[in-house]
Parts: sequence; structure tokens; C-alpha cells
Amino acid sequence: MHVYYSDHYTLPLPEDHRFPMSKYRMLRDYLIINHIITEDELQKSPMISEELLSLAHTPDYIESIKTGKVNLQIIKRIGFPWSFELYQRSCATVGGALESAKSALQNRIAGNLAGGTHHAHADRGEGYCVFNDIAVASRYLIKKNLTKKIAIIDLDVHQGNGNSSILKNDPEIFIFSMHGEKNYPFVKVASHLDIALPSGADDHLFLENLKIGLEEVKKFNPTFIFYQMGVDALKEDKLGLLNLTFEGLIKRDELVLTYAKENQIPISLALGGGYANPIELSVEAYANTYRVAKKIFGN
Ligand SMILES: [Zn+2]
Repeated sequence: MHVYYSDHYTLPLPEDHRFPMSKYRMLRDYLIINHIITEDELQKSPMISEELLSLAHTPDYIESIKTGKVNLQIIKRIGFPWSFELYQRSCATVGGALESAKSALQNRIAGNLAGGTHHAHADRGEGYCVFNDIAVASRYLIKKNLTKKIAIIDLDVHQGNGNSSILKNDPEIFIFSMHGEKNYPFVKVASHLDIALPSGADDHLFLENLKIGLEEVKKFNPTFIFYQMGVDALKEDKLGLLNLTFEGLIKRDELVLTYAKENQIPISLALGGGYANPIELSVEAYANTYRVAKKIFGN
């Protein structure tokens, strides 16, 4: 199983910044130390080209992030200060998604230890998302005729408004987002299927609704799946308003990954959100998804 990482492109943040940037490197180390994946399986994400970024983003927006001549309102909504490293890192995140998708086509499953940047729209970013990795990679797979029908299963606690705003009218794509009703973004952009859970929702409520959502995904009959495996539905998450346990998240992953495996649908994993206090809990939850992936796919 190829697993792509982007943390070799570091992003300088002020010391008091709220975003837990260290989690990416921590997760990579955790997966190796605990023998969940091997060094051989780890791959460096390449930067995506501007040409491929433009599959999902406007040239003006790409240029503004590259040069720093970016609208102050937009950079404020993204939540990271501008630097050239921000551009590089964001391009690597999307590059990792594309490589992971291509690897999944060959090997049934692959993962990106970044991405799931589902709040990025065609002409602006927000919510710690600069470029939309799944939107770019989805458009690429369809354009190159590498697959026919893509399902995006987005189980991050936040609704995938950017995925919807970019891809909603692409007939080859079905977006299922399940999220906290009261969580950011406060104005949702409708997906093909949205399930909004009440604050405090537990494992049982989450899993029952996931089964309902997966039935709808099955009706679409996808030939490829992007799984946004955000772990911010965890009870200990600082931003998420749901109350899932580690066991609940593991059962969640088992449902999604078993569906892909049994129906021979290639699946590419995107990291998504995780903001637990302490952050080690998010890292553990992310690693559990990889444990489940290894158990089910065996490679
Ligand atoms: Zn999130």
C-alpha cells in the first residue's frame, strides 16, 4: 500500500497558531514505529503542476497563492499566513492525492497523509484549506478516462462545502457528506447526499446513519472512491461537536473499507481534520484507519 506524505514541505506558522501542524509528521512516525506501514510503502508527495490545479481552480486564484498577491479577506478565511511555503505545501497535498488515486487504481488502496481539504472552492480557500485535493484528483481521473464514476465519502465532522461547490454538477461524481449540523461551515453547500448529525451524536447514531448513506452510494455504483477519513468527530476533538469513540471510528472505517473491498472499488484515503486535545489522540485515530485498511486489504 503506497502512502504519500507532504511534511517534507514545512509550513512556518507563528508559535501561538491554533493549527496542530505537528500531527502530520507525528502520524508518519507513528505508522512506522508501530509497524502499521513500512518505510518502503512511504512515498514523498510531488508538487502538483499549475496546469493540473486548474482542473478545479481558477488561474487567478492559483497565481495569487503562488505570488502572495492574495486578497486579505481570502487569506484570513484560510487561516494560515501567506508564505511561498504555503503554496508549496498546498501543491504537495494535491500531488499526494493524485498519486494516491493513481496508486489505488493499480493496488486497490492507497493513502495520502494530508489532504481532504474540502473547504477549498474554485476561486478561494477557507477553513485551513488552500487547494481542493479531491476535486483536482477527481477531475483528473475522469478527464484521463481512468475511471467512470467517483463517489466521495466525506466523514469529516465538517461539511465538504468546497467539494460540493466545485463538483456538484459533474455527472460522474456523487458526493456524500456526513457531518455535525452545528459545525463549521455555518452555511453548507448541498452535496448529492448530506446527513447532518445533532451535536453530541454517539457511535450508534453515527453508524446507523452511515449505513443509510452507504446504501445511497451503492445505488450510484461508483468505480472509484475517495474517502475523506477526518477524525474530528472524536469526542475529545476541540472543534468537532460529535461524541464518537475510537471504537466507533474503527467501525466506521470497517464499514467503508469493507464496502470498497467487497465490491472491488479502488479507494484512496485523504486525511481530513483532527484537532483533539492532546493531539496524540487524533494521531492514534488516524493510525487506526490505516490499521483497519491493512486488516481488510492485507497489503
Ligand atoms: Zn474537519
